[in-house]
Amino acid sequence: MKILVANLGSTSLKYRLFDLTEDQETMLAKGGFERLSDYGAAIDSCLEEIKRGGWIARESDLAAVGFKPVIARGVTGCVRMDESVLEAMEAYNGIAPAHNPPYVHGVRRFAERLPGIPLVGLFETAFYQWAPEAAMRYAVPESWYRRGVRRWGFHGASHKFVAERAAELLGRDDVAARVRNLYVDGGQTPVREPAFRMVSCHLGGSSSITGTLNGLAIGNSLGMSPQSGLPHNNRVGDLDSMALPLMLREGGLSLDEAERQLCKESGLKGLSGGFNDMRDIMVQAQQGNAAAGLAIEVLAHQVRHWIGAFYLELNGLDALVFTAGIAENNADLRADICRNLDQLGIVLDPDRNSQVRASEAVISAKDSAVRVLVIPTNEELVIAREVKRHLLNEQSEN
Ligand code: AMP
Repeated sequence: MKILVANLGSTSLKYRLFDLTEDQETMLAKGGFERLSDYGAAIDSCLEEIKRGGWIARESDLAAVGFKPVIARGVTGCVRMDESVLEAMEAYNGIAPAHNPPYVHGVRRFAERLPGIPLVGLFETAFYQWAPEAAMRYAVPESWYRRGVRRWGFHGASHKFVAERAAELLGRDDVAARVRNLYVDGGQTPVREPAFRMVSCHLGGSSSITGTLNGLAIGNSLGMSPQSGLPHNNRVGDLDSMALPLMLREGGLSLDEAERQLCKESGLKGLSGGFNDMRDIMVQAQQGNAAAGLAIEVLAHQVRHWIGAFYLELNGLDALVFTAGIAENNADLRADICRNLDQLGIVLDPDRNSQVRASEAVISAKDSAVRVLVIPTNEELVIAREVKRHLLNEQSEN
């Protein structure tokens, strides 16, 4: 089954083409286009590229196009991206202003260009559908809640990928099967005792921490919008709500300028004095730039804060997983995060940790009660797998 996964940025389109058969998952092609003013030409070029490569003969060879939309009012999970879903996304443009409008526009372009090909999206919020309500509510009046002011949780595809893979690697095929079937049976796949408790740390351009119990998420550090939680590359992360009125009333900022600074000049960039890539921040810190050093310390501190929160909720931990660009590549940061946690059963093997870069490995010491792993994420593959399951499920229902 050939599935094209399209990742729509505000001015970019990246794609991967997968062929998923009963027993094999192959990525056939990948590519992307930047600085777009319109998706139409990019979609044409993408289809041309995969035809020229011989991966498809005609457009109808595509079983579906898969997407990774962020959020919609009243819709989550893995769904057909029909007009009602696009309208539900538009209803939450205010929550994800940088993500939803270009996404909706891009999906409509795909619908025009590929009539008859199923367009299926796996919402980033989907993984948190079964999280306890108390973990997902802000203490705001009911009228705010009705507008969507609650915790949603994001990075669902990535946390799902590592939840399934970690369970497989640690011999919990039952938990892996539950994660695999999540959007088909709503988490009903049975698991055995004892419980499998995991925290996954997705640290990249955008970062978040998720706790899972037996494969089901119990919460995520990202709250109402992708601007919350840990400090991101240039986005603020969690912030006291009174900071905004303070900077409007006394800091001389307009609302638009304050929003721009929170979304583009904050996070690691704000703390480090202008560097938003962890590679540059590390070099700066090594050269004695104190602000860059502080940015790394703040990130490590926040990550520990969230690991601790989920450790407590889970009543312990079996696996701690690091994934995404920063966490997969940065052994020093992993060591900082895991420092002085031996009383909680988390002990790294320093040699193994320092050797691992962007590859799958256990990095905890032999006597560490908690297994610490690095698992490179693969969000696009998750999308392709879910799209395939969704289509097969639709077929079996008809
Ligand atoms: P992602 O969002 O997963 O693509 O991660 C992107 C981020 O990973 C970049 O902004 C960098 O900060 C970070 N990154 C990528 N490669 C490295 C590396 N070799 N060492 C440290 N950080 C890295």
